[in-house]
Amino acid sequence: MNVPVKIVTNGMKIPTIGLGTWQATSETEIESALNTALECGYRHIDTAYAYQNEEIIGRVLKNWFTSGKLKREEVFITTKLPIFGVHEDRVEMFMDRSLKNLGLKYVDIYLIHFPIGSNFVENGEVPLNQLIPERTDHIEIWKKMEEQVDAGKAKFIGVSNFNERQIEKIWNNCRIKPACQQIELQVFLQQPKLVNYCHEKNIAVVAYSPLASPKYNNFMADLGVEIKDLPNVFTNPIIREVAEKHKKTNAQIALRYLIDMGTIPIPKSVSPLRIRENFEVFDFSLDADDMKKLKNLDLGEPGRICDCNFLKRFEDHPEWPFPKSNQ
Ligand code: NDP
Repeated sequence: MNVPVKIVTNGMKIPTIGLGTWQATSETEIESALNTALECGYRHIDTAYAYQNEEIIGRVLKNWFTSGKLKREEVFITTKLPIFGVHEDRVEMFMDRSLKNLGLKYVDIYLIHFPIGSNFVENGEVPLNQLIPERTDHIEIWKKMEEQVDAGKAKFIGVSNFNERQIEKIWNNCRIKPACQQIELQVFLQQPKLVNYCHEKNIAVVAYSPLASPKYNNFMADLGVEIKDLPNVFTNPIIREVAEKHKKTNAQIALRYLIDMGTIPIPKSVSPLRIRENFEVFDFSLDADDMKKLKNLDLGEPGRICDCNFLKRFEDHPEWPFPKSNQ
C-alpha cells in the first residue's frame, strides 16, 4: 500500500504515518522493526542523535538501498539536534555527526529537539536530569539550521517541543520557514490551539507519543525520577467502544484520530505484529460521532505525559516551552 503524503510549507512531502524509534537500541530489534516497517509500507522513520540508534538505522537503510529494493528519495528520514547541541556553535557539528551515523548524504528534515540548550556533553555521558541549561538564542541557532539546507545536508528544517511564541519568533525572522513542529499529541493531550496555529501556517504537525507512551515510566525510573499515573489508550473504555464498532484495535483508533486531525503520528514499536497493526489505519473511517467522543477525551495539560520534568534545572529558563503548573 502507498502511504498517503501531506504537502506542507516549502513543498515538503511527508508520509502521514511514521515509525518512532525512541527507546529502541537493540541492534536485532531495530533491524527487524525497520525491515518489517519498510516491507509493510512505512516510508517515514523518526530518529534523533540522542536516541543512540542512528548507526543501526543507517546500516539497515543501506541494505535496502544497495539491494535496489528502495531508493533514497522514497523514504523520509527525520533526525534531531540534541539538547546539548542547541547552540549556534554546535549545529553543524551535530548535523555532520548524524549524517555520518546514518550513512546518508542528507536527511529529509532536521529538527531542533528541544527549545533550550544545555552544556556540551557527549551522548549518554551524563544522565539527562544532570544537564545544565544555557543561554539559547533561537534566531542565531536557526541561521545555522538554514545553513544545513544551503549545504544540502537537510532538505527541510523544523522544531520540536516549541510553543507558539517561539515558532512565531523564528517564522518572523528567518530566511527558510520551519516545515514541521513535532510535539506530544495523543487523545489525552490534543493541544488544539497549537495544532491550529501550525496548520494555519501550513507547518506539518508530527504527533509524538501518539499511543500515550506506555513505557514512559520505565524511562523515568531509569533516571531515578518520580513516576506518575499515565492515562492509557489500550484500556480506555471510550476508545474500546469505538474500536469494537469498527472491528479495530484501540491503537488503530487512537492513530486514525490523529491522522483525521491532520497530524502525523509516529508510533514506536519493535514488535513486527504491532508495527503492522499500527499501519493498518487507512481501511476504515471515523464518523462525526466517533470524532466527538475521541475529542472529549482531551484532558488538556494534565494529559501531558512527556512533560520533561526530569530536566529539573530547565524549568525556570525563559525558553521553557510548556505551561507551568500554576498557569
Ligand atoms: P508511543 O506512544 O509511540 O508508544 C510506544 C509504546 O507503545 C512502546 O512501548 C510499544 O511497545 C507500545 N506499542 C506500540 N504499538 C502498540 C500497539 N499497537 N499495541 C500495544 N502497544 C503498542 O510512544 P513514544 O514515546 O515512543 O513516541 C513515539 C515516537 O515519537 C518515539 O519513538 C520518538 O521517535 C518520538 N518522540 C519524540 C519526542 C520529542 O521530544 N521530539 C519525545 C518522545 C517521542 P513495543 O515496542 O514493545 O511494541
